[in-house]
Amino acid sequence: MADPADLPPLREVIAKYGLNAEKSLGQNFLLDLNLTGRIARCAGQLEGETVIEIGPGPGGLTRAILAAGARKLIAIEKDRRCLPALADIAEAYPGRLEIVNDDALAIDETALFEGRAKIIANLPYNVATPLLIKWLAGRERFSSLTLMFQKEVADRITAQPRTKAYGRLSVLCQWLCDTRREFDISPRAFTPPPKVTSTVVTLRPRETPLYPADPAVLEKVVAAAFGQRRKMLRASLKPLGKPPEDMLEKAGITPTRRAEELSVKEFCALARGYE
Ligand code: SAM
Repeated sequence: MADPADLPPLREVIAKYGLNAEKSLGQNFLLDLNLTGRIARCAGQLEGETVIEIGPGPGGLTRAILAAGARKLIAIEKDRRCLPALADIAEAYPGRLEIVNDDALAIDETALFEGRAKIIANLPYNVATPLLIKWLAGRERFSSLTLMFQKEVADRITAQPRTKAYGRLSVLCQWLCDTRREFDISPRAFTPPPKVTSTVVTLRPRETPLYPADPAVLEKVVAAAFGQRRKMLRASLKPLGKPPEDMLEKAGITPTRRAEELSVKEFCALARGYE
């Protein structure tokens, strides 16, 4: 099979290789090529780019990324059953698709390419947040991350202060990245349908974080503040072991305010006040 146009429809691929969805692997496949094309386009220009895809499964999004012109696509899939279907795609796009049979949580994907890459993935929901945290730590190697999450996680990533979804993940992601909600996808678009709506988000790592702060201190302060999000900061920051009033005063923040009212800028000031 040498031509992408000869690749069979994804339903046939699933039947041919017996890819019954495995719940423990978060397998909800996207078979609509319009949707997979739309997700790939959210990552911007792919011509000449290296792309990492996590969990290609039967390869719907994989095909869209290659059709969009990615120079090199490294696809990391844990489920061995998917490998023959992916090998067919590799054959149709000679030299452009590298398939890695490994666990995305364990692997150091930055060792697989030089320079910077884009990540594009319909993530397995059970490991989506730990994967995002891992990529944020190594963000200088990624120019963008276009990721599909459960809507509730996407809400947390992009949430603004004074909303229910605003929390640790919002502060961390927005401090380090420009975050953009792309679009929602109904459960009906997947095979089998998940229980919840999905949302595509694009994160673009910033050259430098939005405001100065030590990452470990910021994480500690944000965790303490949101650990008791309904309490006033003068109480919720007590577990940090330093008088909350001192750091709040240094940061110019009224002690009666609550975690969910603070902007990313104010959290960074608080982290500097703690130091
Ligand atoms: N990309 C395909 C699509 O859009 O139809 C499949 C997406 S499905 C939501 C998640 C995929 O991630 C599955 O193929 C699953 O086998 C794979 N997967 C689950 N856990 C993984 C892990 N720890 N490392 C790598 N792949 C994983």
